[in-house]
This record gives sequence, structure tokens and C-alpha cells, in this order.
Amino acid sequence: MLRSAARAVKPATSVLRKRVLPQVAARRFSRSHAVASEVRPTSLDTLTEEEEMLRESVRRFAEDVVAPKVREMDENENMDPSIIKALFEQGLMGIETSAEHGGAESSFTSAIIAIEELARVDPSVSVMCDVHNTLVNTVVRKYGTKEQQDKWLPKLSESMLGSFCLSEPASGSDAFALQTRAVKDGNEWVINGTKMWITNSYEADFFLIFANIDPSKGYKGITCFIATKDMGIQIAKKEQKLGIRASSTCSLAFDDLRVPAENVLGGEGKGYKIAIEILNEGRIGIAAQMLGLAQGAFDKAVPYTFQRSQFGKPVGTFQGMMFQQAQAAVEIEAARLLTYNAARRKEEGREFVREAAIAKYAASQVAQRVAGSAIEWAGGVGFTRETGIEKYWRDSKIGAIYEGTSNIQLQTIAKFIQKQYS
Ligand SMILES: Cc1cc2nc3c(=O)[nH]c(=O)nc-3n(C[C@H](O)[C@H](O)[C@H](O)COP(=O)(O)OP(=O)(O)OC[C@H]3O[C@@H](n4cnc5c(N)ncnc54)[C@H](O)[C@@H]3O)c2cc1C
Repeated sequence: MLRSAARAVKPATSVLRKRVLPQVAARRFSRSHAVASEVRPTSLDTLTEEEEMLRESVRRFAEDVVAPKVREMDENENMDPSIIKALFEQGLMGIETSAEHGGAESSFTSAIIAIEELARVDPSVSVMCDVHNTLVNTVVRKYGTKEQQDKWLPKLSESMLGSFCLSEPASGSDAFALQTRAVKDGNEWVINGTKMWITNSYEADFFLIFANIDPSKGYKGITCFIATKDMGIQIAKKEQKLGIRASSTCSLAFDDLRVPAENVLGGEGKGYKIAIEILNEGRIGIAAQMLGLAQGAFDKAVPYTFQRSQFGKPVGTFQGMMFQQAQAAVEIEAARLLTYNAARRKEEGREFVREAAIAKYAASQVAQRVAGSAIEWAGGVGFTRETGIEKYWRDSKIGAIYEGTSNIQLQTIAKFIQKQYS
């Protein structure tokens, strides 16, 4: 049933195009190109019918299929394979991929909405979907040759989970100081090195590996390679984490990993450009994950405050509680508008780097604050693992770390300020 709901999005695209897209198209030209009389700006949270339908179907999927497994997966620090299978069956692992390649051919904002809705129920499932769509699929779609796209995109839409392997033990924020090397040997590249913190890698079969083919050129030697698990990728260690515990995070060892020459993606020495561009987009995905997380914590804790009575009335009716909840609602709304705005700008082909950094930074702060307050609103009950409220708080910490720490987002934002004012 859910599968058909998600799949129903696909044919709807063409039906809706005439009726709904003119609004979006108007916005596309709104600032720099159109004459004032043609401009029809819309509110930042205006979604197409297609996007609304997707939200509805992902919400149902998250509540019906994911929610019953969340606690068990968190306790076991393991993603249930049935959830991965279901994400593929729902069409949620090829959201922007063309129908020709087995995807849903939807908008970037659709991917953002799916990530948000999954995070409302489980930020671990959300990041699995996020990395697969906004990093892995997008790199293949944007930079892959036609042969690479024809070969890999259908698999990535259907059943093959992907990982994005950039970070290493000695290169985190300074990602392009990476040490992994690739050396050409006939018609193959031989990769040696170690990657660290790689999301999805325990379950993945498809890996985008960034390695330097010519360290004398510095970051200009960095190249992106496609590899599959059966080529000999070894899981060196699975991390035990504070939050998003069902999402696997592993160190990988490449010991003379042989990759065919045709698996270079985007050209030799182009890995730096690919990683920079993709992580700029990816940050909007993390903003959406943190936004969904904040909303999920709020939705879980607030109803309890109207059921729980102290001093003869529901605790949610005390002004001290009401104001805190109102403040949280304001922050969630602000995070939502920042996230959707960054997504739309990217979709419209406009500059979005600053907006993506702002959205990620703000949404991760909001997620921490709201999830922390949600625990307090539920009192002692909020502190127990049984209600799942404390999990949102544990999961929220990662928003300030991956795909660029909060300091790195501030650095990006500060550079724009400097450019404008100095
Ligand atoms: C759960 C998890 C999943 C991840 N998934 C992936 C993945 O799928 N693929 C991948 O490639 N990587 C992944 N990462 C890696 C992640 O992107 C890095 O952890 C992150 O970029 C930070 O790097 P670091 O941990 O080495 O911290 P460091 O770079 O060592 O930073 C430590 C501290 O120093 C600060 N700092 C560093 N440089 C500066 C500066 N110039 N100015 C001010 N402050 C600075 C940072 O803000 C931080 O507070 C993941 C990490 C985690 C924890």
C-alpha cells in the first residue's frame, strides 16, 4: 500500500507540471531576471502537490514501518535489514534519479522532505536515506559518464546501498589533507589507505572513495573512485556512538584495493571539486534531518504535557511551560524556512552555499535545544529510554559535527560577511 503511495508520486509529476510548477518557475526568475509584473513570489513553505503527497506517504511509512523498530535498533546499535529493503521498495533511495534509471525523478526539495519526515521518527534511518540520496546518487548523477550512470543508478535505486568515503583518521575538517593513495597499474588503480567515520558502510555494497593520485599536486590530485564491497573493502571497526546508533559508522581499510580504470568518477584530479560541491548540497540534507528531529521531539513530548497533571492541572497549561513550547515552535519554524529556502535556491540554480551553511548551523542548534527541552517537559519520564524522547537529544549532537562542524559552517558564513564588508 505504502509502496504504491510513494510510487504514485512519479506519474503525478507530469500531470502536475502544468498546474503547479508555474508558481515555482515564477520564483525562479523572481530576483534577477524577470520584470516586476511577472514576479509571483510564494511563501517559503509552499510545496507542490507532488511534494505534499510525498510528505504524506513518507510520514505514514515512518510511523507504520520504522517507528515500531526504532527502540530495538537503537538498543542493538544495528539497522534492521527490513528497513533498508523497505526504503528501496518505497522508492526513497532514488528520489531525484530519473525514471529511466529506476528513480522517482522528483525534486531536490522532495528528497529534503523525505529526510525530514524520516528524522521525525528516526534520525538514523533518515541519515541512511540522506547519504544515499544527496551524496552518493547525486555524485553519480552529476559527474558520472553515461556508462557509469546506466550501470550504477538502477542498482542504487533498486537495492544497492551507498557510502561516501572522504574522512580519514588524520583528515576531518581539513578533509583534503587525506592520505589515501591510488596508483595506476595497467588498466586498474590500486588504492591503499584508511577511511574513518563512514556512514552506511557496514551495510553498503557501493563506495565512493576519495584518494590522491598525485600528492605533489596537493588537493588537485584528489580523485573519486567507484568501488564495490566484493573488490575487497574491509570493515576495520564499527564505532559505538552516543546517538544515531542504528546508523552504521565504520573505519574502512583499503589494502591494495584494485579498481578498474573506468571507475574513476568525474575525471582524474576532480575529486576536490566533487566533494566540495556535493557537501555544500549535503548540508541542506543534514539541516532537514535536524529539523525533522526537532519536530519529532516536540511532537512526542508536548502531548504528554497535556496528559500529565500536577497542582490540579495539566503541566502544559502552566505559563512557564507554554512559553518554552512557544519558543521551541518559533525555532522549529525558523529552521524549516531556512532549510526549505536553501533547498529551493539550489533547485533554482542560484547561489546557495551561504544559505546551506546557515540552515545546517541553525537547524542543528535548534535540534539540540528542542530535544533537550522535550526531555525536561516530560520530567522523569523524559529521562527514561522507554519514551524515546532522550534518544532525540542523543541523536541531535551529530548535527553539529558531520558534513562540516558548526565552526566550519560559521567559517563559511563569516567568509561571506568578510567578502561583502571588507
Ligand atoms: C557519526 C558520524 C558519521 C560520519 N559520516 C561520514 C561519512 O559518511 N563520510 C565521511 O567522509 N565522513 C563522515 N563523518 C566525518 C565527519 O564529517 C567529521 O567527523 C567532521 O568533518 C569533523 O572532523 P573531525 O571529527 O576530524 O573533527 P576535527 O576536524 O578534528 O575537529 C575537532 C574540533 O576542531 C574544530 N575545528 C577544526 N578546524 C577548525 C577551524 N579551522 N576553525 C575552527 N574550529 C575548527 C571543529 O569544529 C571541532 O570542534 C562522520 C562523522 C561521524 C561522527
